[in-house]
Amino acid sequence: MLETQKLKKLSNYRLGLEFAKEQDQADTLSHYRDLFHIPKDNNGNNLIYFCGNSLGLQPKTTKQYIEQELDDWAKLGVEAHTEGKNPWVHYHEFLTESMANVVGAKPHEVVVMNSLTANLHFMMVSFYKPTKKRYKILIEGDAFPSDKYAVESQLRHHGYNDKEGLILWKSRENEELARYEDLESILKAQGHEIALVMIGGVNYYTGQFFDLKRIASLAHKHGCMVGFDCAHGAGNVELNLHDSGADFAVWCTYKYMNSGPGSLSGCFVHERHANDKTLNRFTGWWSHNKETRFNMRDEFDQLKGAEGWQLSNPPILSMAAIRASADMFNEVGMKKLVEKSRQLTGYFEFLVNELNNPNIKIITPSSPTERGCQLSIQVKNAKKVLHTKLTELGVITDWREPDVIRCAPTPLYNTFEDVFNMVKKLKTVLK
Ligand SMILES: *Cc1c(COP(=O)(O)O)cnc(C)c1O
Repeated sequence: MLETQKLKKLSNYRLGLEFAKEQDQADTLSHYRDLFHIPKDNNGNNLIYFCGNSLGLQPKTTKQYIEQELDDWAKLGVEAHTEGKNPWVHYHEFLTESMANVVGAKPHEVVVMNSLTANLHFMMVSFYKPTKKRYKILIEGDAFPSDKYAVESQLRHHGYNDKEGLILWKSRENEELARYEDLESILKAQGHEIALVMIGGVNYYTGQFFDLKRIASLAHKHGCMVGFDCAHGAGNVELNLHDSGADFAVWCTYKYMNSGPGSLSGCFVHERHANDKTLNRFTGWWSHNKETRFNMRDEFDQLKGAEGWQLSNPPILSMAAIRASADMFNEVGMKKLVEKSRQLTGYFEFLVNELNNPNIKIITPSSPTERGCQLSIQVKNAKKVLHTKLTELGVITDWREPDVIRCAPTPLYNTFEDVFNMVKKLKTVLK
């Protein structure tokens, strides 16, 4: 409570629409909103879109980026692989640097390929190396279902019982957030049996942004490999993946990174593993040395760095959409983005708290360093109808059973006025 009071004081938020308007005017990133298509209701009014944590909005430049590749395909056919404006054989390289900046990694630690859950599996081929004594996998208590299913199936694939082999880092009874001291106790007691610690960098449900470095060093101390699923972190918080020391990380690009439905995933492999040819991995022609890839030689020559985990020649149209968005992120920079994000989400938190509604509880951490832009608002005794009503009033949020609305005011295209109007409508609905 003290913490919240201190923050409120520091940030000087005020009630009333005037304040929101002032903040939007002072916002140096406000013009980015105009670079996005904002969904509208039937009367042509902008919706209040708080679902960037699920599917980010479309940048207006995305079409151009994709059209460029469609044109080259039309004009050049297969030749566009080498003769196109953006030669396709190198296309993934156009994304590497900006993606590395977004997640805080070195360029050779990052590659864009496949989809997210697929990458999680490919990373586990290399970094989940179970032995009879050490085969368990630790994940957070309310991990994203796909991640849970993926690690369970890896356990079964290696011949282990998925109930016995899966360890959950759960929050305590009547609490929502996971505590580090509990992780420490689990590792102290069972660390010698755990092969892999795989945590969602920002938990999708509570919005808790974990201390990646702390988790990685704890797990390493106990001899476990460490991977992070940063689907809710990439483009939302400063991940500093390299410094975290994690062995690997994966994320998708269609949430905060605005790259379109089902778009490709990003993958990080720490440089200490970059050239390790002894690591087990699944390979394809795109994991082969670029210089000699098309000689179609018999013997395999492992490509160095994260790129060496690629398998297939990638879908260029999807990569073009990622490039449109990554260019924008690169221009803004995560530092500025996070600065605005904290201001915007802090304001959101302030207004929700000012509702003074005893049925409402924000389960996301109140400390700005332990969250991104998402606030998960628990509404006691609410039913899904609450969410439906909000949608009818033009507010797009996400409902999670039993009683949580997840709301993500994203700093690139949401405004302080959006936040003001959202809370006003929430108040109406709560009555
Ligand atoms: C969104 C999300 C997924 C979705 O996986 P796909 O393979 O892209 O469908 C998986 N894990 C987490 C943590 C997510 O947030």
